[in-house]
Amino acid sequence: MPIPSDIISEIRDRADIVSVIGQYVHLRQRGKNFVGLCPFHTEKTPSFNVSPELGIYKCFGCGKSGDVFTFLQEYNGLSFLEAVRTVASSVGIAIPEGAEQAPSPADEHRRQLIRALEAARDYYRSQLEKHVAAQRFIHDRGLSQAMVERFQLGAAPPSWTALGDALSAQGFAIDVLRDAGLVAIRDDGSQYDRFRNRVMFPIWNTAGNVIGFGARTLSNDPNEPKYINSPQTAVYDKSATFYGLHLARHKIVHEQHAVIVEGYMDVIALHAAGIEHCVATSGTALTEQHIEILRRLTKRVVLVFDGDTAGWNAAHRAVGLALRSGMSVDVVILPEGEDPDSLVRTRGVEIARQQLSKRLSPIEFLVAWSKRTNDWSRPDIATQQIRALAEMLAPVPDSIYRVLLLRELSDRVGIPVDLLQRTTPAHRVHQPQRNQRVPSPKHSEPPTTPPPPAPILPEEVELLKAVLLSRNAAQTLFDEYVFDPATLPTASARQLLEAVAEQLQTDSSQRPPGSALPDLNIPDHVRTLAEWLIFTHEFPSPRWSDHGIELDRDRHLRRLLDDALGKLEERRLKHRIEELTKQLQQQPDNVELLQQIKRLNELRIQLTNQTP
Ligand SMILES: [Zn+2]
Repeated sequence: MPIPSDIISEIRDRADIVSVIGQYVHLRQRGKNFVGLCPFHTEKTPSFNVSPELGIYKCFGCGKSGDVFTFLQEYNGLSFLEAVRTVASSVGIAIPEGAEQAPSPADEHRRQLIRALEAARDYYRSQLEKHVAAQRFIHDRGLSQAMVERFQLGAAPPSWTALGDALSAQGFAIDVLRDAGLVAIRDDGSQYDRFRNRVMFPIWNTAGNVIGFGARTLSNDPNEPKYINSPQTAVYDKSATFYGLHLARHKIVHEQHAVIVEGYMDVIALHAAGIEHCVATSGTALTEQHIEILRRLTKRVVLVFDGDTAGWNAAHRAVGLALRSGMSVDVVILPEGEDPDSLVRTRGVEIARQQLSKRLSPIEFLVAWSKRTNDWSRPDIATQQIRALAEMLAPVPDSIYRVLLLRELSDRVGIPVDLLQRTTPAHRVHQPQRNQRVPSPKHSEPPTTPPPPAPILPEEVELLKAVLLSRNAAQTLFDEYVFDPATLPTASARQLLEAVAEQLQTDSSQRPPGSALPDLNIPDHVRTLAEWLIFTHEFPSPRWSDHGIELDRDRHLRRLLDDALGKLEERRLKHRIEELTKQLQQQPDNVELLQQIKRLNELRIQLTNQTP
């Protein structure tokens, strides 16, 4: 049974689209709308627009658009029903039991894996108290019960079959457990648990579903790897998953930067210390995809690494990656052998905070990294290293940031900026990265009002704008003026108005017709026109609201509508007069024709005097 459409509308109406999308995208207000960097494509200047008034969004860079449900579907990979349920629970609306919708087979498979993984999490949690070594680990690491709960820590018993048996008894098929990465199957067909005798750290997607595990050994056997992870599965993509992101993302947006640490325990220790805008990669080094995920939330990252050689090298790689993708970046190199977890544990929150605030600028870090392993007292080596550093800055997309970085490099190495700049060939600047969709130049600086996507008359723009933004104006147009959409001169404007008229008849909610845009059955170019009308036209003028003058909106819209109708009528009369005048030239004696022209002209003059 599908969810009743009136409940769906109610959920949509009650949801605040700006706060829903704001959990994933840093939005700032521009006039009545909000803008931010599009989460669906790579861009440097924001072309992602959200209208809180209409409850819809539109990116003018990649064209994605929709309402609060489509956003969650696309961003979190949810089904429509899951998106509706997510929004419903956040606005406190109960969805009738049994409301279901047939998912695609791939969706259903992923959902089964998540169900199995969440059952495994519950099983591991139930084992935690019984596992003495796990209890000791939690005690030794100073983990509070609150953190154990928050991060849903569990324990895998030292058994080859405990989890497989428990989940099979719950009805999970063996191939689901295998595809979820929970059990492995031997050549002889027998199965065994992948995680044994380990502390289990569930890993979540951004929606907070368990998609895999990190697991720390509790065995004293030196041959056992300390940490292992779930394998890559249909739900767990290591190169695009941050540990703790679903818990951190609000704070990241709020703090306007993200702290990236190396391990699960580091994330937990920092959360416990009140530093919640931190995440860790899981089972892989930082990738371009990771950076892209963070770029939706913030433009700044702080990388925290252990001061051993592996840490320095990982930091070097990560700095290059962040700079190339247009993030600003700072680096914290902890004393060798320390990580945030050990710092918090052995030296306390205050010392840990102090250490974390010792941030190196990217240039400071890069020069230190180079000097760590290269003998700068030799001119040939110093030359080679300085050139390599300058070349590392060449792909920084923001030219101002790039010049500032070069200037800092110049100060630190004592080589003039222009000389450094000359060592970085022009063609290497702005080198687009692999797999990266580069926004076309016309989007690099969003014009205040881009040209219309299809030809349209100025009076049609006014009319449609009023109708899309105000249900009152739309009803006036159709009920009071009995306006026939077919009389609009431009085809796409006509199609849009016809769709709105139809929507008004079937939609019993009081939302403005523009809110129904995602539901309208219209061709793409007509939809693009509607989105252009909504997002590139401020209405009423933002200058008025800036000055605190609250205009009677409906009255203003009504006047806009009247003006537009007047101008349209004027245009129609003018056209008709031209036609009749042509006919009159053929039949100069036709008195009736002459009188008709005269009457139309009078009407036209009347109308011109009325409209400003
Ligand atoms: Zn986009």
